[in-house]
Amino acid sequence: MKKIKVVEIFSSIEGEGSLVGYPVTFIRLEGCNLRCTWCDTKYSYDTGNYLELSLEEILSKVKEFKNKRVCITGGEPLFNDGFDILFKTLLKEGFFVIVETNGTLFRQSIGNMYLNFNSKIHIVCSPKPFSDYKVDKKLENYISEIKLIVDDFLTEEIVEKFLDFPIILQPEGNKKEFFNKAIKIQKSILEKKDKEIRIIPQIHKIFDLK
Ligand code: SF4
Repeated sequence: MKKIKVVEIFSSIEGEGSLVGYPVTFIRLEGCNLRCTWCDTKYSYDTGNYLELSLEEILSKVKEFKNKRVCITGGEPLFNDGFDILFKTLLKEGFFVIVETNGTLFRQSIGNMYLNFNSKIHIVCSPKPFSDYKVDKKLENYISEIKLIVDDFLTEEIVEKFLDFPIILQPEGNKKEFFNKAIKIQKSILEKKDKEIRIIPQIHKIFDLK
């Protein structure tokens, strides 16, 4: 079977979004279709910094950690040809599978597996300014949460485009100025649209975890 390009596999706590605090095994797949200026995982693309692992090798490592939740991240995991088989296998093995995607791509394996495993799939879509916050139409049906990085680019109008989904605002780099901006957006959207959105910083960075 074809090997999968994997940058790293490690155990930590979920540091971002609505599942923050859960013990999670992270599988970071190689490659990304975007090049965001503030990307904090640049080592996941363009570096040759990856291992080519078989599905069995990945599973064996994942099982060592005993975590019930596995996050397939990147880079952009849907850009990696190994995604489909890995995603399907993890679900069939009984794991709760989180996928962190920039939203620009879609893979039919998500739709196919959703039929029987919807309660075990959590798709975190984080649209980026560097793709004009584009989200693939087909992916929209499966999104569990929209995570928007609050930076110089994000505006209230952009946030409003995603009000049909649960929204998390994540201040870029945990910076105070962006936290303040997030508070303003949160308050305004509550007043104007009667909709609650959440602000969650990256807690793994506060505690210097991986
Ligand atoms: S989409 Fe994510 S991994 Fe890709 S460049 Fe942007 S921040 Fe980095």
